[in-house]
Amino acid sequence: MNTSRGPVTWDVVGVGANSVDFVTVLPAHPQPQGPFAKMRIRRHAICCGGQTATAMVTCASLGLRAKYVGATGTDDNGRRIREELARRGIDTSGVVVRDATNQFALIMLDETTGERIVLWDRDERLALEEHELPVEALVAARLVHVDDVDNSAAIRAARLARQSGAIVTSDVDRLTDRAEELIADVSYPIFAEHVPLALTGTPDMEGALRKLRQRFSQCLCVTLGARGAMALDGDRFCYSPGFEVKAVDTTGAGDVFRGGFIFATLQGWPVDRALRFANAAAAVSCTRLGAMNGVPTLDEVEALLGAAES
Ligand code: ADP
Repeated sequence: MNTSRGPVTWDVVGVGANSVDFVTVLPAHPQPQGPFAKMRIRRHAICCGGQTATAMVTCASLGLRAKYVGATGTDDNGRRIREELARRGIDTSGVVVRDATNQFALIMLDETTGERIVLWDRDERLALEEHELPVEALVAARLVHVDDVDNSAAIRAARLARQSGAIVTSDVDRLTDRAEELIADVSYPIFAEHVPLALTGTPDMEGALRKLRQRFSQCLCVTLGARGAMALDGDRFCYSPGFEVKAVDTTGAGDVFRGGFIFATLQGWPVDRALRFANAAAAVSCTRLGAMNGVPTLDEVEALLGAAES
């Protein structure tokens, strides 16, 4: 297979999951017994989301040329996702359609605390296969982003991209049996907070990242919820505090963070600045209901950064 770099077509190609989320805003946290066993829904909305799809929508909203690769269903939700991605300027020629229901989630959001419960399902037939990867697009992209939902396809995409000289970012959100293999093939693994601790059995984050450093030489990034994000870059820890916003819904915040980080990395900014920009993008997304619905424009991110500096 020829993996030499042709003309660059896409700033970023994302390979991974999408979802349609049924978001309900509730007056309290649901309980199995007592007054909160039944309650009237305050507000509800159908919102498009999913890790990589939301990250790609963020990239497009910030001005990058983005392509999404993933599997969708033949049901209304599958159609909804494909239409939403196209409407937001994402290239969907790599989207596969399967005779299955699309991945979906029921999200119960407690409006008093912002805490949420996510109930989700994904048909096994939606798993993306390695042979479905658009090799030409992957080897021509400036950056490839993968998540850890379909690991074989993600690892293959990451390898192809790295061999062709592209940057590779990832969402490492779960402790899968192939997590370490995926990390090894990525230039910037971006972990959910619980993953480095679970991978290393180390209770503190600095210790966990130092332990991972013995096996992985790349810049290791972690998102820390409202506290922001941190990275171990070479031998140096960088911390970037979160932005104070009135958080309505944090669904998709990690995906918007990754989209912001991708944008910053493609500008050639150093890690400290990339973390700060990504935190600002994610914070804006927390002020709105829904994952893709919360995706900010570049102006909104710059306004929050500017307000914090003044
Ligand atoms: P995930 O959405 O994957 O669970 P996190 O909860 O770590 O990931 O959040 C991702 C990013 O979103 C954080 O690094 C931070 O920048 C931002 N963020 C999350 N929650 C808040 C919040 N309440 N206020 C401001 N920013 C937030």
